[in-house]
Amino acid sequence: MDGLSHRIDARRDELIALTQDLIRIPTLNPPGENYREICDYLRARLEPRGFDCQLIRAEGAPGDSDRYPRWNIVARREGTRPGECVHFNSHTDVVEVGHGWTRDPFGGEVEDDKIYGRGACDMKGGLAASILAAEAFLDEHPDFAGAVEISGTADEESGGYGGVAYLAEQGLFHPARVQHVIIPEPLNKDRICLGHRGGWWAEIETRGEIAHGSMPFLGDCAIRHMGAVLDAFEDKLFPALAARRTALPVVPEGARHATMNINAIHGGQPEQAPDFTGLPACCVPDRCTIQIDRRYLSEESFDEVRGEVVDLLEDLRSQRPKFDYALRDLNQITPSMTDRSAPIVTTTAEAMQDVLGKAPDYVASPGSYDQKHIDRIGRLKNCIAYGPGVLDLAHKPDEWIGITDMLDSAKVMGRVLEKLLLT
Ligand SMILES: [Zn+2]
Repeated sequence: MDGLSHRIDARRDELIALTQDLIRIPTLNPPGENYREICDYLRARLEPRGFDCQLIRAEGAPGDSDRYPRWNIVARREGTRPGECVHFNSHTDVVEVGHGWTRDPFGGEVEDDKIYGRGACDMKGGLAASILAAEAFLDEHPDFAGAVEISGTADEESGGYGGVAYLAEQGLFHPARVQHVIIPEPLNKDRICLGHRGGWWAEIETRGEIAHGSMPFLGDCAIRHMGAVLDAFEDKLFPALAARRTALPVVPEGARHATMNINAIHGGQPEQAPDFTGLPACCVPDRCTIQIDRRYLSEESFDEVRGEVVDLLEDLRSQRPKFDYALRDLNQITPSMTDRSAPIVTTTAEAMQDVLGKAPDYVASPGSYDQKHIDRIGRLKNCIAYGPGVLDLAHKPDEWIGITDMLDSAKVMGRVLEKLLLT
């Protein structure tokens, strides 16, 4: 075994302790708790190892406030001579705990080869593995070209606007500064994720007219209008989406089709508190809203995706008496796909062959992650997701990360550094 792999194996206990420490800082998002604490922790870890650390608050980003400031850290260690910069980007936020846990979600319990906790898999285990890889590389090769960067960023789970998007706007992912990016999201240690589908989130509101519920003919029921919208989706839109298929290797298989989820529906009187004991008043509802989450393929364009829904709504307007609606865009995610011949892809594939003795599976992600911002705002096309962990465990109860998987992927990441920075 080579020197780097030896160093990584020798630090198994250190890797476990680091992962536990990260899990024990509950960085729940929303609302976005303890971002400063986790950045301070990372700075205290990386500064003594020669990293120059910048803490950057995404002031004015969605969700940023004095109560919940969006703190990010970018740590850079320069080499002894000019060269390229390899950047590892991990998000520090985790999603809500949810129900069904049998372990302490912020305890970092270790059993057999697993560490449990919210964020263990998505993606504090990946962050810890990348730190270990970088530190082992620096110890093994103090004389290297270029630079190693590690960032811990906020808000990936809520769109990344207070994290990578903000940093990209500040120029931190400009191709003149950073040449290679690995995002250690939990895509499994033997897979390279090239990118993700696009997305469009929108709210549709149907409008009616309020009246007394005993004389509905004097009003106009917004919920019945929404029923017509949902019927049109069932009859026309969903079958059309299911018939479209991407050539990209999206996993799981079902996500190779265009999809749409209806996230929420609200109409009529607001729900009362659970302890309310009164009866409802009799009103014809004059407003009904739904939120849709349309995930689209790189073969589709945003304008087509949006236009398809607008066409259905306009059809209803022309056919259905008194039908009126409003459409509000909430978020747009550009699909991102790194070329299979990009240097970070081919280098990681070679590193995987060296370390694991196998060629990677190439995949694309059904949901999105921060690659979209690095691609679109940063204009950096040389970015992949590669990291330990089983994607299906993300956001689930009793989430865990495998210790051996973290060590193996750290070896692959360290090998990538050797290939790119020992010139
Ligand atoms: Zn993630």
